Amino acid sequence: LALHRGKERSPGEYRLYRPSTVHLPAHEMIALERDLHRALNEDGLRLMLQPIVTADSQPGARVTLAGVEALVRIEHPERGVLSPDTFIPVAEASGLILPLGAWVMEQGLAWLADATRQGLDTQTIAFNVSAREIHAGGLVERLAAGLERHDLAAQRIILEVTENVMLEHDSVVRETFDALRALGCKLAIDDFGTGFSSLSYLQHLPFDIVKIDRCFVGEVHTAPRQAALVAAMIEMGHALGLSVTVEGIELHEQASRCLASGADHLQGYYFCRPLPAAEALARFITL
Ligand code: C2E
Ligand code: CA
Ligand code: CA
Ligand code: CA
Repeated sequence: LALHRGKERSPGEYRLYRPSTVHLPAHEMIALERDLHRALNEDGLRLMLQPIVTADSQPGARVTLAGVEALVRIEHPERGVLSPDTFIPVAEASGLILPLGAWVMEQGLAWLADATRQGLDTQTIAFNVSAREIHAGGLVERLAAGLERHDLAAQRIILEVTENVMLEHDSVVRETFDALRALGCKLAIDDFGTGFSSLSYLQHLPFDIVKIDRCFVGEVHTAPRQAALVAAMIEMGHALGLSVTVEGIELHEQASRCLASGADHLQGYYFCRPLPAAEALARFITL
């Protein structure tokens, strides 16, 4: 992320841009936008689900499923599976994030309702929400209608936002967050620690969950400084009354280290990669 002085803003105001949007060549942006259009209109989106687990820190402890995170893919007829890291910035810039986000939410709610009927003991589903979706309005109403349609409790929904959602310190973000919490949903601050001012957002906005970014986890089991940093972030989250999830767990040793430091939930390839919704149910039942 790079910080630039906003052109059309008053002096002293700053605005954050995602380099992925800024630096993509125009022809690639246009191609991706076309791919997105096609995926939306021709059944080319795929919902993936990745488990978020709880565990005891003692060795050999049982892992239990706490919830899932919804992650989207494009299945491109020629180029195969496209990663959201490439197309989400284009979706945000073009506004296609609105139908895309609506699709993911509907599919995710339908999956949760079905999984619950089939006896899967998963509590929550987490959706990633972009700034644009919040600023467009209607998110809370759409979610409330979806919950009613699928007969699901709002307490089972987590909305994950990254720092760029909070950048524009306007009342829309605050009001949306308040409305989501009034509905009963939980709010998570995603990729915690990677932005410039995560701490200040924690101070001002009503989060329930902190998700520590995976960039802090790679060496957590071997590098004392990294371990100290993760432990301090977990402690800070708890001091604020938040639940702490650590992302990007790929090794047993990383899981043990984070659990020993008090992490409430873990997520990562070590437990399970994101799976297509259709496979997820069978796999998660045996997790
Ligand atoms: P994120 O929200 O931080 O999601 C976690 C990313 O880390 C996912 O990448 C996941 O597959 C990956 N991951 C999980 N465990 C591990 C691990 O152990 N090691 C490593 N190296 N990676 C792991 P993915 O699915 O490619 O998604 C990338 C980003 O795209 C997400 O990051 C999120 O910001 C965005 N995204 C995905 N789906 C949606 C969506 O439906 N809406 C919006 N607005 N953004 C989305
Ligand atoms: Ca996320
Ligand atoms: Ca994240
Ligand atoms: Ca991320």
